[in-house]
Amino acid sequence: MVDRQLRSRGIDDDCVLRAMGEVPRELFLPEDVRGDAYRDGAVPIGAGQTMSQPWIVACMTMLAEPAPGMRALEVGTGSGYGAAVLSRCCGEVVTIERHAELAERARALLAELGYANVEVRAGDGSRGAPDRAPFDSILVTAVAEDEPPPALREQLRSGGVLLCPVRRDGAEQLMRFRDGEEQAVVPVRFVPLVAE
Ligand code: SAH
Repeated sequence: MVDRQLRSRGIDDDCVLRAMGEVPRELFLPEDVRGDAYRDGAVPIGAGQTMSQPWIVACMTMLAEPAPGMRALEVGTGSGYGAAVLSRCCGEVVTIERHAELAERARALLAELGYANVEVRAGDGSRGAPDRAPFDSILVTAVAEDEPPPALREQLRSGGVLLCPVRRDGAEQLMRFRDGEEQAVVPVRFVPLVAE
């Protein structure tokens, strides 16, 4: 997976490549789909949600510019896999999931596997985590309509990166926002960001 799906397709951050090689992706999946863990696509995780394709996880983690000591926010914990990868390359991760049962499962698994620098919260991530702001990077793993939730921009430190898939005119793109500027990264398919 690391060589064929990631390195050969532009992922060149050593920490991200190491994390993708180390985190056991199959353990974050329901047992009946574990055989699909390392294929080049998204995989269902229950509650109608999916775990992103390995390349997307690696790409978003790399573009978040992870560094030791940095604090990152992830909106859309899902299985907890993306948070586990991110946690290997930065200081601490706060991750929020609106499906309580997914949040609970991810929290238990991350604790069992020893990812001690990840805090899992259940609730509406479009409000962010104001009590832990500002964040050095924010990653949204569900698609927003037109614009990322304003609370997330407010909780980003100056110079920090917000990565968010955005749907505009029927097309979904992963977008990178920084200091009021935006840049389209790649066309994507994500589950919808559901704000309460
Ligand atoms: N990063 C995940 C992929 C998650 S899929 C992984 O590695 O497995 C996107 C997730 O975003 C889904 O689990 C969905 O329930 C969640 N989600 C959608 N809207 C949300 C919101 N407003 N707040 C928090 N989570 C949300």
